[in-house]
This record gives sequence, structure tokens and C-alpha cells, in this order.
Amino acid sequence: MSHFEFDPQGISAAEALELMNLEDARLFELFARAGRVREHFKGKEVRMCSIVNAKSGGCPEDCSFCSQSARNSGQADRYPLMQPEEVGRNAQAAAAASATEFSIVTATRGVNEPKALAQIAESVKAVRAAGVEACASLGLLNENSLRTLQEAGMQHVHHNLETARSHFDKICTTHTYDEQVATVRTAKNLGFDVCCGGIFGMGETRAQRVELAETLRELDVDHVPINFLDPRPGTPLADAERLTPMECLKIIAVYRLMLPTKDIFVMGGREVNLRDMQSWIFMAGANGMLLGNYLTTKGRSAEDDLKMLADLGMTIKLPDLKPVPEKALCAEH
Ligand code: SF4
Repeated sequence: MSHFEFDPQGISAAEALELMNLEDARLFELFARAGRVREHFKGKEVRMCSIVNAKSGGCPEDCSFCSQSARNSGQADRYPLMQPEEVGRNAQAAAAASATEFSIVTATRGVNEPKALAQIAESVKAVRAAGVEACASLGLLNENSLRTLQEAGMQHVHHNLETARSHFDKICTTHTYDEQVATVRTAKNLGFDVCCGGIFGMGETRAQRVELAETLRELDVDHVPINFLDPRPGTPLADAERLTPMECLKIIAVYRLMLPTKDIFVMGGREVNLRDMQSWIFMAGANGMLLGNYLTTKGRSAEDDLKMLADLGMTIKLPDLKPVPEKALCAEH
């Protein structure tokens, strides 16, 4: 084992693409290497993320994987923005189930309108009061909105880029890649921990998977959520072929080697795509996972996940609630 193996800069895009194309028994060597890198930088601690769908369905955007888009004939429930008390109750349940952080997710292009933003700021306070790190995934956010949420105690901003820039126009046409990158950059500049990744199995090539990781490296995001498409009826991607469990593990491993110091989460689509190989995500380099249900589909029970972690000798990271800034930072600094 060389020190080079633990280079915090990670492997080059060229090496990553070679590894993305590995097959058969050599995959196990790749997983073992990624597992060592995870252990070196992250130890045995796992971050547990939980989410609530705080405003479901009717989204004006046209993301082709999403059953919450009003343009798709998906089956997602529709309901308006959840009240802070209800968000707080969900966060308390997540805290009781050992969540490290809790994210308020809305099916929206963005939440920059003062009334809705004020309501979400109250929800952020309710999440903090539950004793978990507060996160939100609200779409495209401007600097003022991000400051409002930071002053309410929000630590993390989640905003997926979804896929590589070169594939994005096949996935969404109602907002641009640059708009997404702008939200990520503004959140980084304000000092948030930024959670930003994508969904795999949407027709992208292996090279495009590496391209997305390169963009995330350049943006210096803190957490990288990896989702595997669980095709939703009524969406343009309803008939997409599922990735194999080994392909999913390979993506996790290559992302760990490209982004060795980052928190890599396995989120949506874990059960249906990885099936019996779910516990392998940690050997392949992940150090975080989604606990409980997904946005529009059910996850497996928290009890089963906690048992799996105990069997693997992994421990759960406790929440680390940072002090709320009196005045949010200036994005220019
Ligand atoms: S912006 Fe979000 S909620 Fe809206 S369609 Fe896209 S993925 Fe779905």
C-alpha cells in the first residue's frame, strides 16, 4: 500500500475512465482499493441522511426522471408546502432513528419568494430543534434566499447537478446547467456544506459519469449523493434499463477514488438496484446513506439499515450543530 494511494487530490479522469470500464474479477480489487481509501479518510463513521418531501408534485420543470414534474404523467402525490410543525415532527422521528442530518425537499424550480422562504426558514429552525443538522433541497436559490436560510440555522445545501453537462439537455430543458452551477457556487461561497451529486442510469456513458465527478471536484462540493435511477411510470425514462449491482458499486468506487476526502452518500434507488449487495456500498467507498423513505418511493426500514451497519462494524456519525451566524457571510468572500 503506497502513500500515493491516499493522495487527497484523487485519481485522474483518465485513470477513472479506465476503472469505469473494468469488468469481472478485477472489480473486486477496485472495491478493496476504494474501501481502503474510505477507511483512510473517513474511518468507520457513516453519515445518515433523512429527508422529507415538504412540497410534493406539480413542479413546473421537465426533468425526465421525475414523477413530480407537472409535465410528466407521474403518480407522485400532490400537496402544498408543509407546515414547520410537521417538518419538525418528521425531523424528530429521523433523529430518533439516528439520522445525522435532515433535509427539507420541495418539488419546485426554486424557493425565492419571501412568504414561502420564511415558512421554510421556520422549518429549518424546527429541524435544528430536533437535534439534527439542517439541510434543504429547494431547487435554484439566489444569494438572499441562501442567507435567509443560513441565518435560520441551515448548515447544508443540497442541489444535485443530476448528470454531466454534456448529457444534461437530454434530461432537462427548463433550466440550464449554468443555473445549477451558480446555486452551488453561491452556497459554497456563503460557507454552506454543499451536497451535490447526480442520478446514474439515465442513458449517460461511463465517460459522462467521470465528467460529472470532474465537475464536482472542480466545484469542491462537500457531500456527493449518488442516486441510481428507479424508473418511474409516466416519465420519459420509464423504460430505462436498470444498472446492474456491479455497475452501481463500480460508480461508487470510482467516485471515492476521484473524490477521496468527500462524503459519498448512496441515496435513491439503493434497494432496487443493488438488491442483495447493499452492504457492499461501504467496501466500495461510500460513507453515507439515506435512511428511511425516498421522495416518492419507500425505502427499507431504518432498523434493517442500522442492523446492517452494526454487522459491518460501522458506527453512525453524531450530528454536529454549528453555531448559527448572526449575519450570514458575504458570498464574495
Ligand atoms: S426540479 Fe426537482 S421536483 Fe422539479 S421536475 Fe426537476 S427533479 Fe423533479
